[in-house]
Amino acid sequence: MENSSPSYTALPFKEQLVNGLSQALVNGNADPVLQMIRALPVAIYTCDKNGYVQLYNSAAVELWGREPQPGIDLWCGSFKIFNKDGSEITLDECPMAITLREGKAVEGEEVIIERPDGRRINALPHPIPLFDDAGNLKGAVNMVVDITKKKAADEKLATLAAIVQSSDDAIIGKTLEGIITSWNDAATRIFGYSSEEMIGQPVTLLIPPDRLNEEPGILERLKRGEKVEHFNTVRITRDKRLIDISLTISPIRDEKGHIIGASKIARDITKQKKTESDIKDSELLFKTISSASPAALWMTDANGQNVFVNETWINWTGKPFDHQLTDGWLGSVVQEDRNRVIEKFTESIQNLKQFRSEFRFLRNDGELRWGLSEGYPYNDSSGSFSGYAGSVTDITDLKKLEQRKDDFIKMASHELKTPITSIKGYVQLLLNIYDELNEEKLQAARPTVKSALHTISKQVSKLTRLISELLDLSKIESAKLELNKSEFDLASLVEETVQDLRQTTLRHAILINNSFEGHVYADRDRIAQVLVNLLTNAIKYSPAAESVEVKVSRGAQAAIIRVKDSGIGIDKKDHQKIFERFYRVEGKSEQTYPGFGIGLFIASEIIQRHNGTITVESEKGKGSEFIVTLPLNLR
Ligand code: ADP
Repeated sequence: MENSSPSYTALPFKEQLVNGLSQALVNGNADPVLQMIRALPVAIYTCDKNGYVQLYNSAAVELWGREPQPGIDLWCGSFKIFNKDGSEITLDECPMAITLREGKAVEGEEVIIERPDGRRINALPHPIPLFDDAGNLKGAVNMVVDITKKKAADEKLATLAAIVQSSDDAIIGKTLEGIITSWNDAATRIFGYSSEEMIGQPVTLLIPPDRLNEEPGILERLKRGEKVEHFNTVRITRDKRLIDISLTISPIRDEKGHIIGASKIARDITKQKKTESDIKDSELLFKTISSASPAALWMTDANGQNVFVNETWINWTGKPFDHQLTDGWLGSVVQEDRNRVIEKFTESIQNLKQFRSEFRFLRNDGELRWGLSEGYPYNDSSGSFSGYAGSVTDITDLKKLEQRKDDFIKMASHELKTPITSIKGYVQLLLNIYDELNEEKLQAARPTVKSALHTISKQVSKLTRLISELLDLSKIESAKLELNKSEFDLASLVEETVQDLRQTTLRHAILINNSFEGHVYADRDRIAQVLVNLLTNAIKYSPAAESVEVKVSRGAQAAIIRVKDSGIGIDKKDHQKIFERFYRVEGKSEQTYPGFGIGLFIASEIIQRHNGTITVESEKGKGSEFIVTLPLNLR
């Protein structure tokens, strides 16, 4: 049947080829099959039964890189042949030689053909023996397929597959219907599913229920050929954990450019998100802390340009953050002080040394304040200089205290000198009287002597009081003011102290109103000192009054002493301050009263050390009442 039909289509291609070639060998070069074979893009050649290369097509010449010499080249036209492992195959051991020797086809042995120009080609020879009608071997035909490109493509594919497998990101292939087609190791690591579990499954398995609506949108975009880049979302793992991921999804196209699926790269950004939120948290914390700071805080860049100020500085100056950047903050610094600050800062940044400068700045409410700015260079995490960070402390009160201290020293010298001058004068007077001493004159001088001695005594007690106040001040400052506590009758102490004071007070009556009975446990002398201070102040600051009053009563837990006058009074804003060191109310009327501004400070220290309180109730021009409480039963 087969032989009777000339049809090539009835036979498989290989058999047609063999038949055709056998025919061609008989019919010579003009045979149409031979023409066809010559034109084939696959290398084909024949050998006669002795192995001499007979017929070959141009694809074979191209493959060998040379033209074989008829009657010389045996078995094949190759320059050299090697096994896949690189070992050389001698021509008489080549697949064609084996076919001719053994009279059978040799299939599927890959070889490497080296051309004279050194190029190597991976080839798959298919030598088939040719027999005549009588069954005698008359030669063989060999079709040699160049597989170099395919091999390179296979290798490229293998490399790509290895890259995909070794990626830290999950790389997932899916169809346009969202069915998973590939799944790399990182996908297993990130999502917990193996590739066997996931290939063929819908990708929606990875999407939390509340985000399922994301997928249709993604698929739509892919179908339009769009890429979805760095899409941050949440996915769910095999063990139902929600993880933050960043997705990049690209359409996959076939050779003709048709979109046939999508590749999805998923990066686990849970850690990154955590770091981001940690950074945000720490920024928030920094902001909160810096806003809570009583000092103004600032930061510059490496060029010394301001890049940050905290809320405190913004509140002080009343200028918004944007106004403070670069050198904007200097706008609040008093003109005369600006250059000094700039010079100091320039000097510091040139040497990367501590910066420290005092300047005056205008506060939001129009008040001029003193600021002390201090800053240090800081480095970034890699250790390179990044700028200065520092603070501004409002030192106005400190400056005022310094001023008050200076004033105090001036006044103290004056206050000490005045009684001494007066004493000196009276002593001189007494000496003169003494020098002229006789009975008659002495009698006449008696009133003068008495008055001089009285004045001297007064000035000496004034000096003594001033000196002991100074001593107390230094004791308080060095924390050496000690209390010598004992139990005593408070009413008698008040009585005694007032009696003593009455001796020195001519104008004012000192009234006592006592409803307290019993003992307190305190330093008797120090409480007397407080009382003297309050009463002398009451007398001193109520020159027009005729009396002052001291009232002693019992509170729930404390003895209460009130000293009341109807003098010049104290404005509310000074009620706290008068208990500070060197503080004296400034005003026309006050200036006329001598004083150091330390009496109430010492009194308040003494009372605080007894765990008591000292306060004032007063209004300008309406007299004052000082209230001291002394806790009972503190023994
Ligand atoms: P000073 O030696 O100046 O009196 P103090 O410390 O005793 O110092 O008092 C502080 C300031 O408090 C005084 O300078 C005065 O302005 C004010 N002051 C004290 N007591 C009275 C008072 N009874 N009436 C009015 N002002 C008073």
